[in-house]
Amino acid sequence: MDPEIFFADLRTRHRRTLFDKIDELLRRAGIERCVRTGDLVAVKLHFGERGNASFLRPVFVRRVVDLIKELGAKPFLTDTNTLYRGSRTDAVSHLETAVLHGFSYATVGAPVVIAGGLRGNTGLKIPVSGKHFREASVAAEIVHADALVVLSHFKGHDVAGFGGAIKNLGMGCATREGKLAQHSDVSPKVKAKRCVACGECVKWCAHAAITVDEKARIHPDRCVGCGECILTCPTGAIQIRWTEGPLTMQEKMAEYALAALHGKQDRAVFLNFLTQISPACDCHGHNDAAIVPDVGLTAGRDPVAIDQASVDLVNACPGRENSALRCNHEPGGDKFRGVYPQIDWSVQLSHAERIGLGTRRYRLTRLDS
Ligand code: SF4
Ligand code: SF4
Repeated sequence: MDPEIFFADLRTRHRRTLFDKIDELLRRAGIERCVRTGDLVAVKLHFGERGNASFLRPVFVRRVVDLIKELGAKPFLTDTNTLYRGSRTDAVSHLETAVLHGFSYATVGAPVVIAGGLRGNTGLKIPVSGKHFREASVAAEIVHADALVVLSHFKGHDVAGFGGAIKNLGMGCATREGKLAQHSDVSPKVKAKRCVACGECVKWCAHAAITVDEKARIHPDRCVGCGECILTCPTGAIQIRWTEGPLTMQEKMAEYALAALHGKQDRAVFLNFLTQISPACDCHGHNDAAIVPDVGLTAGRDPVAIDQASVDLVNACPGRENSALRCNHEPGGDKFRGVYPQIDWSVQLSHAERIGLGTRRYRLTRLDS
């Protein structure tokens, strides 16, 4: 039977708040079967890059935390450090950003643990039977958690077309090495103008792949693509070559999502927030106007089905004028193609289905308003 995806709109009334709906969505999706007494539960979310304001609201996350505690488990909020240099590059800046955005024990009732360690290099190699990967580097805290509750802000994405549960799992649970492997198939490059020949990158490269003469040089024959040097260069001279096109990147991301769920396909539940549907990801240091009105929330146990249902619900809406949407404003028009005409977002869904991450078919059950 096709997986059931539950949908709640945003209408509320006395004694029927959005918090109640979050609770009901997760229970009906089966959180009680995924989370057991004493479990360490990774609540995977995105704390938002500084300057961005469309990330999930901490008060909603608090409700999820409370529910997990009611089930006798131990939740922690988590995300991995970014590949690029920004306000979530290392665990210290990432924690500071999380607190600045309202995610602290005092507000959400659970500790924040940055997955992948201080510099994003603490991971485990997980076997995956994919087209691009035989193994994937997944952050240790994700692998070691007993269960996953994946909270995703559903929105557009400039490489994947849209970002939802699959992206939150695939890119969001990868170590720096794993993120680099998804974005690029070549070693990073040195921007000579920025290099001051300090030699810091040489100390951090565990594979002796960098030499410094007048400027640093990366030797591709020795580089394993761990991404360590990108973070450690004090001048930002070492840069990612964003070589992967949108289609390959989406396929790779789906394979990483499968790896992140390894051993936990029965221990994971997904909740997508179809609100403030910005054209681009919360990794950007700003958020442009929403491309459609707020839709609601979806929940389920299948990351492919929930993303397919979420895309369909967004596309069914009328597009907003005065937004990044260039065309397809009519209900039923493809909103993500309307922002990124050249990106076929369906690739992440079809590849995910092909490799056994889930199914694009679903039954939509609407909760009472
Ligand atoms: S750390 Fe950066 S500035 Fe220093 S040698 Fe390496 S590339 Fe050049
Ligand atoms: S990506 Fe890793 S292996 Fe390659 S040069 Fe940088 S630190 Fe060395």
